Amino acid sequence: MDRLPAARRFVRRFVAGPGLADALGVAARLNAEGVDAAVTHLGENVETTEDAARAADAYLEVLDEIARRRLRAIPSLKLTHLGLDLGEATCRANLERVAAKGLASGALVWVDMESSAYTDRTLDLYRRLRRTYSNLACVVQAYLRRTAQDIERLIGDGATVRLCKGAYREPAEIAFPDKRDVDASYARGIDRLLAADAMARGVYPGFATHDERLLDRARQTARAGGVAADRFELQMLYGIRHDLHAPLRAAGLRLRVLVPYGEDWYGYFMRRLAERPANLAFFFRQLLRG
Ligand SMILES: Cc1cc2nc3c(=O)[nH]c(=O)nc-3n(C[C@H](O)[C@H](O)[C@H](O)COP(=O)(O)OP(=O)(O)OC[C@H]3O[C@@H](n4cnc5c(N)ncnc54)[C@H](O)[C@@H]3O)c2cc1C
Repeated sequence: MDRLPAARRFVRRFVAGPGLADALGVAARLNAEGVDAAVTHLGENVETTEDAARAADAYLEVLDEIARRRLRAIPSLKLTHLGLDLGEATCRANLERVAAKGLASGALVWVDMESSAYTDRTLDLYRRLRRTYSNLACVVQAYLRRTAQDIERLIGDGATVRLCKGAYREPAEIAFPDKRDVDASYARGIDRLLAADAMARGVYPGFATHDERLLDRARQTARAGGVAADRFELQMLYGIRHDLHAPLRAAGLRLRVLVPYGEDWYGYFMRRLAERPANLAFFFRQLLRG
């Protein structure tokens, strides 16, 4: 796929490019439009400690370059990229290196959520390290049945937390198979994360979705609860619903766009194809034409 020009073009719809400079160029353009960025160096499930250390090094460079270019951007990373499959100690040491640098430069470090095989380990490590690194942020997925409980615990911690629908294939015992249930769970998550007790505890939610009804709900819920516009943010992915950026910014809402870069785009790209059948049809038409 990598060698087909039509495939490469389509991948570039969702991925800034192979190098950090590509992602930072996009971040600078977003910043000029009043939009913050989160930069992801693509990669997951590394198999050697050297690869895990290299991933952490890449994020240190991300932080250096963000500071040097004075961008409004933060890293967003996956724990299996930092070596979670190789043991918690390896992953923890790598995450601490990135978190410490982020803390020194005042940047959040957002820890993405992966498949349910990693939910407990990811949230446990997040909660333990956040006592030292107050700049760490985490993610919960509305499709998981457990998420309402995780949200309550994170509210107790005053966490910085992204709410997304969830992008992995999960069995029905642990995740809602029906999209309507996922959306309802997401709506309940909005209500809890913006509730007065959550705000009083210092919770900072990021609502990551391109679903206009849920974006609107977040906005209406915040307004009804008197939550100031700087106490939460909306988040989207690079290449999806760019048309919503300007109206959301014009409405005075904080918006962050996650910008991925790197050569290891296969998993990320496949998740973007899988969550929207129309993408798949478009992709194959492009390939045939190419
Ligand atoms: C900033 C950010 C960070 C994320 N981090 C994580 C994470 O850590 N862990 C995780 O599991 N998931 C993560 N996700 C992915 C998320 O879980 C969903 O898979 C993804 O956002 C699609 O769901 P949706 O909320 O946009 O709603 P949907 O109901 O799927 O889509 C709503 C509308 O958005 C548009 N849209 C959605 N997806 C696409 C697409 N691929 N291509 C084109 N248009 C599309 C369409 O117009 C669609 O009608 C993240 C998403 C965002 C925005």
